[in-house]
Amino acid sequence: MFRHIKETEYHVRVSQPDPRFAVLLLQQFGGPNGELKAGMQYLIQSFACNDPRIRDLMQDIAAEEFSHFEMVGECIALLLGNLSSVPKDYPALSMFVEGGGPMLVDSAGIPWNASYINSNGDLWTDLRSNVAAEMRAKLVYERLLQQTDDPGVRDMIRFLLSREESHATSFSQALNWLPEGTGVMKDFRDSDFSKKYMDLSVGAGNARGPWNQGNDFVYENDPHRQYGSQPQYGPDPDPHGPRETGPGPAMDHTRNNPDWQQPQH
Ligand code: MN
Ligand code: MN
Repeated sequence: MFRHIKETEYHVRVSQPDPRFAVLLLQQFGGPNGELKAGMQYLIQSFACNDPRIRDLMQDIAAEEFSHFEMVGECIALLLGNLSSVPKDYPALSMFVEGGGPMLVDSAGIPWNASYINSNGDLWTDLRSNVAAEMRAKLVYERLLQQTDDPGVRDMIRFLLSREESHATSFSQALNWLPEGTGVMKDFRDSDFSKKYMDLSVGAGNARGPWNQGNDFVYENDPHRQYGSQPQYGPDPDPHGPRETGPGPAMDHTRNNPDWQQPQH
């Protein structure tokens, strides 16, 4: 259940209206790496997560992201100020005319979209998506910080980007804590092709590094000569080995207990 508390996680202070920056800040309101995306992504992931500890992590951070969404929305409303103070050539004019306040769009006016959400029901996949989402959010805040001199707004952005950094660390630590060889990180290797690097960009500047040497990698200099005709994927070298990742782990019965009864008062 959600319960709304009539105070923000961090007090938003704006010195004077700045409709130009209000438009830029929309990027973190209705943009692909904004606060609504983050909150929705972690909450929706939690529905498919059967590990109660990771579900708790996802739901705690989702709740905080909705608090950030609220702060950014309040800040945009304050930065918009009054319609009469907005020069007629400001793009923020459309927000006044249509919404009277922040609209659920990014800074280019593109509406928020559910395809921003990555939720795949695999902890390795979802937690990695979340680390990347937090880094993108922090990056956008760092760039936004360079576009305002308002001390209150700068303070709020520094708070927000510090929180995103903290979230990135929590999701990274959760990844480090996951048991090796589970989910999609199962060593599925059913052929030589799982550790083969194809050198397909020909010319000067071929680089070598841990992405194509060591770590059991085979470096293929002329893949077009080797593989350019009949498909030759070959037989499964370990037909009785680990199989494809299924749709999810065993059901967590603490979550939907059939013996649960409504408490009597
Ligand atoms: Mn956030
Ligand atoms: Mn975050």
